[in-house]
Amino acid sequence: MDKTQNSKPWSIREIIPENHPRKESLLIREKIVEAMEKGVVVPQGLIAHGRGECFDYLIGEKTQFFAEKAIEAAAAMLLLAKYPVISVNGNMAALVADDIVKLAELTNSKIEVNLFYRNEYREKAIAEILYRANAKNVLGVGEDASLTIPELFSQRRKVSPNGIYKADVVLLGLEDGDRTEALVKMGKKVIAIDINPLSRTSMTATVTIVDNIIRAMPRLIQKVMEFKSKPNEELMKILSNYDNKSVLRESIVFIANRLTQLSFSL
Ligand code: ATP
Repeated sequence: MDKTQNSKPWSIREIIPENHPRKESLLIREKIVEAMEKGVVVPQGLIAHGRGECFDYLIGEKTQFFAEKAIEAAAAMLLLAKYPVISVNGNMAALVADDIVKLAELTNSKIEVNLFYRNEYREKAIAEILYRANAKNVLGVGEDASLTIPELFSQRRKVSPNGIYKADVVLLGLEDGDRTEALVKMGKKVIAIDINPLSRTSMTATVTIVDNIIRAMPRLIQKVMEFKSKPNEELMKILSNYDNKSVLRESIVFIANRLTQLSFSL
């Protein structure tokens, strides 16, 4: 069948009315679909995004206090890190490429392409998006992903010797639980942006930002800029006062209470 016959005769941007209550969410969805059509996001990435949308409903589609707390800890952790790395997959590149590059610059972090479904085309396509967003150097592409994370199999274990392998702090988003666990077992501190507080990634990470990555990244950048002038002792204090388990607990209780309230308002 000729694929062009199926191509959309319209652009979603043209057909969503300005006042559509779900406009933002539909436009973001469209970004992910376009990235899939270009081979940057895999079909499984659409499913992961849908799971994220569902949790966004549950937290009220706003950055909540538990995410603000985690964002503060994450900013402090990135500023104190000796060798921070931002791990990037297809969904992240499609949604927040500019923010990734900005955050990397502010925190002196390396950027590494790290894929669950790895192939040369995707590696390059994601690196390309990051370079277009002005990244200076993107690791984890081709031969550069030459080392392995113990306890993971095949393509999922490949990392760059100058990136994740060497990192003391890794920031990741929309990540699979096995890989997060493997990084923590390697002694790395992991900052996860995952809107599902029940995922294995959320439960395993050192700092979990339970929020939509679209909202969390600009806030994290803002916090890093605000904290940049703080002395290390103050940043260390912020970190030592931070308790990820209690933040996760707060997010789950928040969802439960919100649902109970909603059920009474029917
Ligand atoms: P785990 O293996 O950690 O238990 P999982 O099987 O859900 O989790 P994936 O589907 O690989 O893992 O990862 C996707 C995760 O990212 C999900 O927890 C999903 O809720 C979350 N997610 C999806 N979209 C977003 C988004 N826009 N912002 C933040 N998190 C998101």
